[in-house]
Amino acid sequence: MGVETELIDGTDLAAWKAALKTPVKLVFLESPSNPVLELVDIAAVCDLAHDAGALVLVDNVFASPLYQRPLELGADIVIYSTTKHIDGQGRLLGGAVLGKASFVEDVFLPFYRQTGAAISAFNAWVMMKSLETLPLRVAAQTENARHVAAFLHDHPKVKSISYPGHESHPQHDLAKRQMSGFGNMLAFEINGDQAAAFRFFECACADRHLE
Ligand SMILES: *Cc1c(COP(=O)(O)O)cnc(C)c1O
Repeated sequence: MGVETELIDGTDLAAWKAALKTPVKLVFLESPSNPVLELVDIAAVCDLAHDAGALVLVDNVFASPLYQRPLELGADIVIYSTTKHIDGQGRLLGGAVLGKASFVEDVFLPFYRQTGAAISAFNAWVMMKSLETLPLRVAAQTENARHVAAFLHDHPKVKSISYPGHESHPQHDLAKRQMSGFGNMLAFEINGDQAAAFRFFECACADRHLE
């Protein structure tokens, strides 16, 4: 369709600067990223992108609407898989696109009206009900994640963890600046080879303790 894309290391502001020297219509970023929880400096990238005449779209799934508000950091469009935190109970698939009324009405509405990518009324209602408990659920999960991250960080069989709320995260200061909480997701690396990682999966699936 004549759309050209350029993939860059989102953690590297110099790479953003270099990429935004050529004309760009849209910047698409995810922070924290799935699955390794890398962050992008949203406010800094919004400034660079807007100077280059581009819109900024942020995939805010991993932060959740509870802990990061990209529109307030300068983003133009925010997207969610509402299948994740918002439903949170394994019942529905869905998504949400947020932006200025002019974007939603002039750009997005004609697209979803013509293509059928609209959620059913029942699924939308269940998602709306889920919003009532979102802060309670995600705050409890985030508190659990904080404990799990600390436990894994100190575990001899774990090589490294990646959790924006842990001081070992290389972008912990940025996390504190742009997030009001650190979220319920974390990643970690087993101290060992592929066989060791697969052994861990088997233990986890069988609900046995990590030996
Ligand atoms: C899961 C996920 C998506 C896609 O969600 P679907 O509900 O599978 O479409 C997009 N972005 C991030 C960051 C995700 O974690």
